[in-house]
Amino acid sequence: MPDKHATLSASAAHRWMKCTAAPRFEEQFPDEGSDYAAEGTLAHEFCELKVQKKFQQLNARTYNARLKKLKADPLYNEEMEKTSDAYIEHLTEKAMTYNSAPSVTAEVRVDFSEYVPEGFGTCDCIMIGGDTLDITDYKHGKGVVVAAAENPQMRLYALGALKRYAPVYGDTIKRVRMTIFQPRAQAEPAVEEITREELLAWGESIKPIAQKAFMGLGEFAPGDHCRFCKGRAVCAARAAVFSAVEEFKGCVPNPKAAPTDAAAGNTLTDAAIAELLTRGADLVKFYEDMQEYALKHILAGGAIPGFKVVEGRSVRVFSDADAAISAVIGAGYDEAVVYERKAKSLAELEKMIGKADFEKVCGAYVIKPPGKPTLAPESDKRALYSPAAADFAGVKK
Ligand code: SF4
Repeated sequence: MPDKHATLSASAAHRWMKCTAAPRFEEQFPDEGSDYAAEGTLAHEFCELKVQKKFQQLNARTYNARLKKLKADPLYNEEMEKTSDAYIEHLTEKAMTYNSAPSVTAEVRVDFSEYVPEGFGTCDCIMIGGDTLDITDYKHGKGVVVAAAENPQMRLYALGALKRYAPVYGDTIKRVRMTIFQPRAQAEPAVEEITREELLAWGESIKPIAQKAFMGLGEFAPGDHCRFCKGRAVCAARAAVFSAVEEFKGCVPNPKAAPTDAAAGNTLTDAAIAELLTRGADLVKFYEDMQEYALKHILAGGAIPGFKVVEGRSVRVFSDADAAISAVIGAGYDEAVVYERKAKSLAELEKMIGKADFEKVCGAYVIKPPGKPTLAPESDKRALYSPAAADFAGVKK
C-alpha cells in the first residue's frame, strides 16, 4: 500500500538514494492521484481481505459484506478478483513450504526510522516461520516491471518487519525473503533472499544517505529515477543535463570544416546519429514532462510565455445514438446494414475471464505475429529483430 506521507518513503527510496535532494524538492508539489493509483489501491483491498479470510479466520459474513462493498466501487473489474485469487494462491503455496504453519498477517505497518528518519510503511503481507521472515508486496501496475534484487523498498520494509517482530522472534530469524508479486506484468514473482546480517549491514550503509536527504542537504542527481519525481518537469538540474548544448555540438560535424566535399561535411555520420539518439532519448521524455506541466499550469490560470491552450482534434459523435440509429432504420435502411456484430478483443476477453481460464479455453487459438521493427538501444533485453521471423507470422505464442 502507498506510504507516500513519509518524507523519505520506501517506495521512493530508489530515487532519494540516488538524488538526495529530491525529497525536499518534491515537497513543493502536490500529490497527483490517478485512476491507476486508485485502481491499485482497490486491488490491494481485495488482496488484504482475502488474506484475512484465508489466514486470519475472518468470518464469512464480514467477508461477504466487505467483498460486496469493494465490488460496488466504480473502479472494480473482474480482473481484480482473478489477480487477488492468484496472490492468495501464491501465499498459500509459500505457506505450505514451511514445516509448521507460519504466522501470516496482511497490511502490517512497519517502522524503519532507525535507518531512515521518520521512515514507515505498510507491508502487504508478512509471513514468519522457522528461521525465515518473508514479506510480499503486491503490485497491480503492469507498465513498469519491478525487480526484487536490491529493491530498497522491500529491504526497508524488511528492516521494519525485523524490528516489529524482534520481541517475539528475537534472533531466530536468520533469513529474509522478499517477493514482488506483480501478476499483470510478470509471469513469475520476483524474489530476493538474503541473510539477516546482510540486510542489517545494508541498513547501516544507507543511514548517512537517508540522513542527508532528510536534512535537506542532498545533491541533485538526474537519471532514470527522475521518471516519477514530482518535480521532473521543472527541475533545473534535470534541465541542465540537456541545456549543455556544447555537448551536442561535440557529436555534430562542423559544416565549415568539411575539407573537400561540402555535402559530405554537412551530413551526420552514423556515429553522430547514434550519439544524438542516445542523448536525445531523455530529452524527449523531459520535453513531454514539460508539455504536461505547461498545459496544467495554463489551465490552472498560470502563463507560459509564448504558449496557449487550444482545442485539440475532436471527432463527431451522436448526441443520442439510439435516436440516430432509429432514424436511419426509420428512413428505410436495413438493420443488417446499420448494426455490426462484433466480438470482444483478445485483451478484453482475457480481462473478462481471467488469464488462466483464457489460456484453457482459447489459448490454442492465440498467435503472436512479429512486431513492427522498432529502434532500441543495444542494452535493450529484447531479441534482435529478424526479417525472416516475419515469414512465420502466425506462430503460436
Ligand atoms: S527531477 Fe531528477 S534530479 Fe530533479 S529532483 Fe527529481 S530526481 Fe532529482
